[in-house]
Amino acid sequence: MITITGDKICTLEEFLPGENTYEYDGEVISTVVGIPLKDFSTRKVHVKPFNEIPIIKEGDKVVGKIVDVKYPAIALVKIIKILNKKRFVASIPYGVLYVGNIKNEAIIDIRKEIAYGDIIIAKVIYAGKVPVQLATNEEDLGVIYAYCYNCNLPLKHHEENKLICENCGRIELRKISKYYGRGDII
Ligand SMILES: [Zn+2]
Repeated sequence: MITITGDKICTLEEFLPGENTYEYDGEVISTVVGIPLKDFSTRKVHVKPFNEIPIIKEGDKVVGKIVDVKYPAIALVKIIKILNKKRFVASIPYGVLYVGNIKNEAIIDIRKEIAYGDIIIAKVIYAGKVPVQLATNEEDLGVIYAYCYNCNLPLKHHEENKLICENCGRIELRKISKYYGRGDII
């Protein structure tokens, strides 16, 4: 389990707030991006932050998988590799994609741009700490693979920002890369 700043970890009845957490309205909330660790002896929960130095640089284009979408504004991305490099990233940092960096037009609903499980190409816009900040607001950036919510089968590009499931006919919306479906370019 990974928590993002502001995430509820548990209730006060379960655990008391420890390092990198605070209490709000009977719940323990994380102040950092990291992994919650429960200490049963003190009945406290701490969050071990991700504070490694990213080996990824600003301007790098990366391939990642959407592992969480926090409506309305944030998606968490597991970075798989740097685009066009054969090797996978040794120490894989996480990235965050804020709604304002998805595309150049204003977005009303992040869920119409990306979804859990999508594979994306993104550009690193801030690498000073983990999670690095990502953007997809260029033509070559965005979703390159997505799966049907009903069938879990790969969606095909339909038109503009629409994808279609050839099995059930479902249409889904995404911020699509011009390389959608092109596994050869990653
Ligand atoms: Zn389907």
